[in-house]
Amino acid sequence: MSAPRTPATYAVACGAALASAAATFAMTLALTACSPGPDPTAATVTSSATVTSTATVTSPSPSTGDPPSTAATTTSTTSATTRVATPTGTPSATAKPTRSLSSAPTPPPAGASGTGIQLTQNPIPYPQTRQDQMAAYSQRHYGIASSALTPKVIVLHFTAGDSWQGAWSTFAANTSNRGEYPGTCAHYVIDYAGVVHQLVPLTLQCRHTIGLNHVAIGIEIVQSLQGHSSLWAEQQILGRPAQVNAALALVRQLQATYGIASSDVIGHATANSHRLFLDKQGWTNDHSDWSAASVATFRSRL
Ligand SMILES: [Zn+2]
Repeated sequence: MSAPRTPATYAVACGAALASAAATFAMTLALTACSPGPDPTAATVTSSATVTSTATVTSPSPSTGDPPSTAATTTSTTSATTRVATPTGTPSATAKPTRSLSSAPTPPPAGASGTGIQLTQNPIPYPQTRQDQMAAYSQRHYGIASSALTPKVIVLHFTAGDSWQGAWSTFAANTSNRGEYPGTCAHYVIDYAGVVHQLVPLTLQCRHTIGLNHVAIGIEIVQSLQGHSSLWAEQQILGRPAQVNAALALVRQLQATYGIASSDVIGHATANSHRLFLDKQGWTNDHSDWSAASVATFRSRL
């Protein structure tokens, strides 16, 4: 799919917007989730290349419902250090100290050693009410009355915005999409510096790709469009070592953990043709993020 250079493009390409929305809805998304803007994180994050060892944490921290502060992504130049940041519960972007485990390194769990992934836990609110909404959605669209995820596919997205916090806020809002709840979300958002923010545990489904939400892990990669095409945006990501290497490391780890083949690492743009695609309501994706060509390049580096 090509990406028309209209305001609605931002919603179409943005992983936060899953529907072929009406123009007003698309504009709203463009202004909230996908609008380009300065990334407050950028100035505070050092290169992920300085991090040599990071533990993977799959259990979510208690969610406060407040946007995470920029401090959550601050990295360290310390080698062989495990750092896990949690949202501070402060709604403002004012930096606050994050929990540092640098004085007491924790052995990484199996499968995480040597991956070089810098993971921070920034969970969106996903209370029982939202889980019930997800289970009802899954029943309607997949015939599965459960919010539980069975990971078999990894879907790549990009945010069409400049900050991971913007995506976090959109996903946390739990706004209806295509007239249905829960709102959209993704399991991970990877920022420009290569910090991997986990928003949702892999035990729960997220609405990020129609037809595959019951089996797909969703990874959003921060990248603005700035009026360009999706292909251009994907090339920016593929040409940004810290970020794409973080994405590759994360995908490799997920593949190893869940036994996912590289052929099942796909882009949102080609999700409709995946063998596991299923939607009992006849819905299909109309997004252009991560073309087959860009995914082929990504896979070649796995
Ligand atoms: Zn997407």
